[in-house]
Formats: sequence, C-alpha cells, structure tokens
Amino acid sequence: MNKLCTYLVGLSALLLADCGNNQPAVSATDTKSPTAASLLPNPDNFRDTVDGKTTGLYFLNNGKLAAAITNYGARVVSLIVPDKNGTPTDVVLGYDSIGKYLHQPETYFGAIVGRYGNRIANGKFKLNGKEYTLYKNNGPNTLHGGKKGFGAVVWDARKLDTSTLQLTYLSKDGEEGYPGNLTVTVTYRLDSSGLRIDYDAATDKPTVLNLTNHAYFNLNGQGSGTINNHLLQLTADHYTPVDSTLIPTGKVEPVFGTPFDFTKPTTIGSRINDTANQQVKFGKGYDHNFFLLTAMGDDSSTIPSAIATGDLSGIVMRVFTDQPGIQFYSGNFMQGTNPLKGGKTDGYRTAFCLETQHFPNSPNEPLFPSTVLKPGEKYHSSTQFEFTAK
Ligand code: BGC
Repeated sequence: MNKLCTYLVGLSALLLADCGNNQPAVSATDTKSPTAASLLPNPDNFRDTVDGKTTGLYFLNNGKLAAAITNYGARVVSLIVPDKNGTPTDVVLGYDSIGKYLHQPETYFGAIVGRYGNRIANGKFKLNGKEYTLYKNNGPNTLHGGKKGFGAVVWDARKLDTSTLQLTYLSKDGEEGYPGNLTVTVTYRLDSSGLRIDYDAATDKPTVLNLTNHAYFNLNGQGSGTINNHLLQLTADHYTPVDSTLIPTGKVEPVFGTPFDFTKPTTIGSRINDTANQQVKFGKGYDHNFFLLTAMGDDSSTIPSAIATGDLSGIVMRVFTDQPGIQFYSGNFMQGTNPLKGGKTDGYRTAFCLETQHFPNSPNEPLFPSTVLKPGEKYHSSTQFEFTAK
C-alpha cells in the first residue's frame, strides 16, 4: 500500500470511530489507524472542568484531513494534512492536554482571539464619546482581548456532522471592559480542500470586535524546527508600520523595496534579521499587519491572501479571507519552553501565524476600516485554510 493509501485508510478508521454526536469523539488511540489518527491527542486528557464548564476534545475529519478542536478557547489543537509523500503531518503547534493549555507559557496556540485581536493602544478606546478602559496585558497596551480573552474561556460546543463543529460564547456586557452582551459563534468545517472558519456575532450595545484564529503553523510539521526556509507570498502591497510597542503608527506604507515585500514567493528568513530596517527591529522580525488587496474587491474567495509552503514537506497552505488585514507573526517571542504534542518542543521562530483580521488598534484610528458592531447588525466573516502538497 502506498503512503497516500495508508493515510486514507487511517482517516477512514477515524471516521468510522467518530459518532458525530456532541461528545468528544472516541479516542484516536482506540481506532485501528496507526497513521493520521495516531497523531491526534487522547481526548481523555481534555476532559476537565474549567470555570464550572466541561471541556473536551472534538475530532473532525472528511476522509482527507483531520482536526482536533477543544472548546477551551475554541482552539485548533491538531490539523493533519498529507505531505508530498502522503505522510500525515500535523501542521499546527499545540499541547496534548487541557492542563498544558491552562499552565504552559504560550497561551495562544490555536486559539480564537477576541473580543479584540491584537493590540489596543494604552488599553483605552472611545466609542460614541465614552471612554472604555481595558486591562493592559502587554506593556502599555492591551493584547488579544485582555487578561482573559476568548482563548481562555470555555465555549459551548455542538458537533453538526463529522466534519463540522460549532462553538458559541456569550461575552457579557463589561467583560474585560468592553461594552455590550456579545454572542459569538465560530464554526469550524473541514471541507474538501481545507479548514474553513466562519465567525458570526451580534451585540446588544455598540462595541468593537476583531476576531481571528491564532494557529501557529509549521508546514513541515509541528516541532520540526525553523520556519525560516518556508516560502511566503502575501497579496499585500502595503502594510501598517508600528511603534516600538507594536502599535500601528496610523500610516499605511508600501512594501516595495523593504523586507515586507512578499508580493512574490520569498523565504521567510531571507530578510528577517535585517535590523537596519527599523520596522524589523521593532517587530524583532515580522510582527506586522498587512493590508490585503483581496479585501478591495469581491475576490476574497478566489484569490488567496497568503500562500505558504513548507520547504521539507512540500505542503502548500493557501489562505482565503474577507478580512482587510493579516497579521504575519514569525514566532519572534517563542522561547522553546513549551512541550508540544508527541513529545516535541517549540523553539525560536519554529512557527508562524497568519491571523486574518482587522487592523490592530482600529478603535483609535478613524481612518482604518471600522471594527464597530452595532445592535441589530449581524457580524459575519470567514477564512479558509486550503492545503495541497507538491
Ligand atoms: C502578536 C505578537 C504576539 C503573538 C502571541 C501576535 O498576534 O502580534 O506580538 O507575541 O500574537 O501573542
């Protein structure tokens, strides 16, 4: 049996083992598959009670790809795709137990980030003349929602079918300082080509909202070393430069002639240490929002916003989104202190993030696309991570 067949047989064993109910699926290790399924964490390690709510691990599969998602932070724990030889490869960093998600230093692996993804300057913003104060958890600024963002709360999970999981969270009026009762639904679906994430929300008072997923990708496989040799292309000819605390200056600048030009496929590491460039210096590498050209028209579902390729695996990830920005973070703060799934460890720049989003600090930048959500409006956005191998 060739490697691709082995991969598919492994996945079908998992498919049969998955009852499609609302409970975490049967243990991956209970299935006969020694391949894709054996890479998935044991759901027993995710059964716990956090803030009075039950946590678990949910498996999705579609016969080609497999994913494990926990309702703690609505996190993608595993995402398994075949590489160029058909070998199942887990392309996202994650932990193998709920305890590690609660206690290890890296707190955003695979999480849904909200109520406001990325930074809000000085932990303050004004809306309709009223000032709101947030918790400053990142130097002088608020990062990823504050002290306890959406990645650190327990969501209600409902499995819709073998390849779809819906997670809902009610963020109460005043939570982390944000106004309005906000109901958020995130739907993860494995379709024929990849992982699709749909975000829906509604509020009962005007609020600000910026939702994203914070998957840490290594397309050679989680824990397999540097991402410096990955190729990256971004459909962005402008980006938003930052100050030394990583707050956008408010300007939108062209990428051409700078280390931020990824308009053609370029290795991530080729200019990452170009600290003669002040923006690279401030980011300690790449930690910047790119202004997506795909947001300018109706092309978001046909033109990828980003394309990344694993140099060793040949895995190609295409990102499609309707969001105006993408935060490219090259793992500059990773320190190699986190025990990953399968006994692997992370390390400096051994993962990258492509967070589809609105621009950081938009609530304080009237010229950036608005992140205000009003009562009666229906928030919807979607992002698709599509995988092939060559
Ligand atoms: C931020 C980084 C941060 C990382 C992990 C990214 O979205 O821009 O500065 O270190 O998330 O929190």
